[in-house]
Amino acid sequence: DYLRMIEAAREELINLSTNFTQQLIEQKTLIESLSSQASQDSLTNLYNYHKFQELLDKEVYRAKRYKHDLGLIFGDIDNFKEINDKYGHLAGDAALKSIAKCLKDNFRDSDIIARYGGDEFAIILPETSINDVYIVVERLRKNVDSLIIDYDGEKFSFSMSFGITTLGSTNNLTAAELLKRADNALYKAKNAGRNRSYLFKENDLWEAGNTFNYVLRLINIGI
Ligand code: GH3
Ligand code: MG
Repeated sequence: DYLRMIEAAREELINLSTNFTQQLIEQKTLIESLSSQASQDSLTNLYNYHKFQELLDKEVYRAKRYKHDLGLIFGDIDNFKEINDKYGHLAGDAALKSIAKCLKDNFRDSDIIARYGGDEFAIILPETSINDVYIVVERLRKNVDSLIIDYDGEKFSFSMSFGITTLGSTNNLTAAELLKRADNALYKAKNAGRNRSYLFKENDLWEAGNTFNYVLRLINIGI
């Protein structure tokens, strides 16, 4: 009888420990899924606003500590309300998803891409010189401009405006200051007629792609 009781207790222990392990695994999966939901935008799967702020603080700290360059880009779809009005909200959502894909294709894995707000996207480019940020943004702008969305039998295209700023060895900006500058440059790009990229640098705003400003920029960065 004793032996049988011991055997039954042993089996019960094994069952309990199996259940316990299963529950632990389920909890771990749940925690992982909740934490990715908390940091991701559900439509585009890009980082959301809150995660972006957290990552920007980290990257600014790291760039200053190791004296690396860092680029910050804000992009906003031009006249997006018109697209929603003309083709419907779901077509607008399809456009947002296509932009997310285009962003992923245009940037390196080490770059941080976020949906910052409704039709606004933000990208951090760690260890990237001002020159390279310029090149990447202009390439992206042209790629977005040539995107064609095919939704429910309707085809449409759109453009985006970009604001750029950089943290270099000559400035010691905070994350908040960088955000303000990128936003300022984006505002300027919108006011100048949209579908263009503006760079905010040391109280100056330059339009990317403009030859005169390009030469000025080269002089300014010492080339
Ligand atoms: P602008 O060139 O000045 O940026 O003009 P705009 O029409 O794009 O104006 P704004 O950026 O202020 O408007 C953003 C619009 O984006 C408003 C809202 O209807 C739309 N929007 C925001 N979030 C979503 C979304 O998740 N899906 C869709 N389809 N539309 C969205
Ligand atoms: Mg917009």
